[in-house]
Amino acid sequence: MTPQEWVLASNNEGKIRELGELLAPLGLKISSQKSLGVSEAEEPAVTFVENAIIKARHASAHTGLPALADDSGLAVDALQGAPGVRSARFAGLQATDQDNIDHLLTLLADVPEAQRSAQFHCVLVFLRHAADPTPLICHGIWEGRILEAPRGTDGFGYDPVFWVPEKQCAAAELSRSEKSRLSHRGKALKGLLETLKLRQAQ
Ligand code: IMP
Repeated sequence: MTPQEWVLASNNEGKIRELGELLAPLGLKISSQKSLGVSEAEEPAVTFVENAIIKARHASAHTGLPALADDSGLAVDALQGAPGVRSARFAGLQATDQDNIDHLLTLLADVPEAQRSAQFHCVLVFLRHAADPTPLICHGIWEGRILEAPRGTDGFGYDPVFWVPEKQCAAAELSRSEKSRLSHRGKALKGLLETLKLRQAQ
């Protein structure tokens, strides 16, 4: 059986590998948008869902292929959901992970522990074609709290300041496999896989 090709609206090698491995058993081949000559889309919206749809539509329109896109980030309740879609550039356009963490901890300096609840969100969108009126949307959420100081050395982004209640440690202290099992991205991927398998069975 020739695998059906989908374009992934991301240039992140890790995501391309992870999704490629998960979707190969379903007869699907994932190609990065870069390998197909697609530029990165703007991410002008204020919600993860809108940005993921915009990215998937852009990739599908430029390749004529079904497209997958994701958008993810951190939402802190005491900051009305910030940094949200600005998670990667919270402290500025060229901000490093450390700059973003420092900025977050400064904003939360006077916020007591009970009010430091937060979630990581990951929205995955699948479009069968650029004008698909019924996108498949899977939203994974990981509940936690923002620590007062970083802990751990693994992971990326805000992992060192994200307290994971079910494991009593920071996300940056989890192994990669433990994190994938619990995380927003793991949950969204699981939802996507289950829905695709259901669709194939129909
Ligand atoms: P992207 O959607 O993968 O580009 O992620 C946007 C930003 O959200 C990242 O640059 C991180 O700052 C943050 N983020 C998303 N997922 C995670 C995670 O699993 N751990 C820590 N930070 C994350």
